[in-house]
Amino acid sequence: MRAFAIPLRTRFRGTDVREGLLVHGPRGWGEFSPFPEYPPALCARWAAAAREAADTPWPAPLRDRIPVNVTVPAVDPQRAAAIVAAGGCATAKVKVAEPGQTAADDIARVAAVRGALGPQGRLRIDANGAWTVPEAVVSIRRLDEFDLEYVEQPVATLTEMAALRRRVDVPLAADEVVELADDPLAVTGLRRAADLVVLKVQPLGGVWPALRVAEACGLPVVVSSALETSVGIAAGVALAAALPELPYACGLATVQLLSADVVAEPLLPVDGALPVRRPDVDPDRLAAVELADESSGGWRRRMADAEAAAA
Ligand SMILES: [Mg+2]
Repeated sequence: MRAFAIPLRTRFRGTDVREGLLVHGPRGWGEFSPFPEYPPALCARWAAAAREAADTPWPAPLRDRIPVNVTVPAVDPQRAAAIVAAGGCATAKVKVAEPGQTAADDIARVAAVRGALGPQGRLRIDANGAWTVPEAVVSIRRLDEFDLEYVEQPVATLTEMAALRRRVDVPLAADEVVELADDPLAVTGLRRAADLVVLKVQPLGGVWPALRVAEACGLPVVVSSALETSVGIAAGVALAAALPELPYACGLATVQLLSADVVAEPLLPVDGALPVRRPDVDPDRLAAVELADESSGGWRRRMADAEAAAA
């Protein structure tokens, strides 16, 4: 097991650095990188995903490339346009409703992204559950002026999503309500509350468990990352490659949000898509971002606590 810390190019989820643990096994490397505030019980599925990647074969791929969106953090309009221009993707996902920002900030950012994408591009927004239902109604109607593909987790709960869905025309995507559920297989009312679902491998316990959630919910799936290195992204790519249908671009083009990676050939988009492959860890690149012994011990303990919580 090797712990890493990689600075982010842009502040994300209130942090400037992404940390985690890489686990090696007969199948290759797995990534365990739950967010800092997550308690052991919530990390148990993340640990299972890392073990699965190291020990278990993934399902056979049904496609060889995964269309992806460029992700635009809650940055100013100029920066947002530059990120879209550099991203080379036909679809963009824009973070909105960031704490400390205003509705005008969201409008300016979304307008800039639409300008950079052109009229043919697809534009989705993600509020991370920050709006109330009335706020979401106003904001979504306003932002749909820029032609929204869908809105990801506009409000916090399934009940609120179901209420909101009756009041706006833009499709709604469920994200946190699934990934943070005690049992993602048993989330009820999903089809009343959402038009599609965002699935991430680590929060769901691995590629195989995520595939079962996709089958159980019966909604179109967008596979997204949890801001991993290319080791974790490869698991998301494996999930996206194994889904029977993939009607939307996935949120797996996030390696460029990190300032470094642990593989020689990172999973970066080419012509708006990721290739379906599993890059190997490069010893020098891993060494360059590896944590010193004492911090690394903290990550090994975190993994042990997560696995104990699952037992
Ligand atoms: Mg989301």
